[in-house]
Amino acid sequence: MKPVIALVGRPNVGKSTLFNRLTKSRDAIVADFAGLTRDRHYGDGKLGAHEFIVIDTGGFEPTAETGIIKEMAKQTRQAVAEADAVIFVVDVRGGLSAQDHDIASYLRTSGKKVVLAANKAEGMQESPLLGEFYELGLGEPHPISSAHGQGIRSLVELALDGL
Ligand code: GDP
Ligand code: MG
Repeated sequence: MKPVIALVGRPNVGKSTLFNRLTKSRDAIVADFAGLTRDRHYGDGKLGAHEFIVIDTGGFEPTAETGIIKEMAKQTRQAVAEADAVIFVVDVRGGLSAQDHDIASYLRTSGKKVVLAANKAEGMQESPLLGEFYELGLGEPHPISSAHGQGIRSLVELALDGL
């Protein structure tokens, strides 16, 4: 069985852009509007010799009853439950938010392997902006650029390591 990696994070941090890069697909809709991804959440990931399944989250079609926040939380829980490893995506340009802290505390209690990805870090391998993400209590933030393809291979290797 291929290992399963879930991409988790608040809206607009670049999860779908990362999903597209890992699956080389256009299945996940990338938008400048927070939370626009719909339908397809699963993709076949391939990176060098590594093959894995990727789950994108934040694609939701909220009903009047569930609402957006509830539906997002539900999707995140489902994806984490299905995953062997979680890539928790944060936005190094936007900085830490209360929502990042909430997701981090949920992930810490999930018992899943979590790799912290500091996205939108093109040209920022050593940036002091990375420092605040240690506060999440999930170890080292790994700078990546989903849009430009930097840091992706080592991130995925970390996520798959030991699975
Ligand atoms: P999601 O809501 O987490 O799925 O985020 P999206 O993948 O839809 O991306 C949200 C916005 O961030 C879009 O405008 C993307 O073009 C932009 N974005 C994604 N990855 C990067 C990146 O590595 N660098 C920069 N500068 N922008 C990015
Ligand atoms: Mg998305």
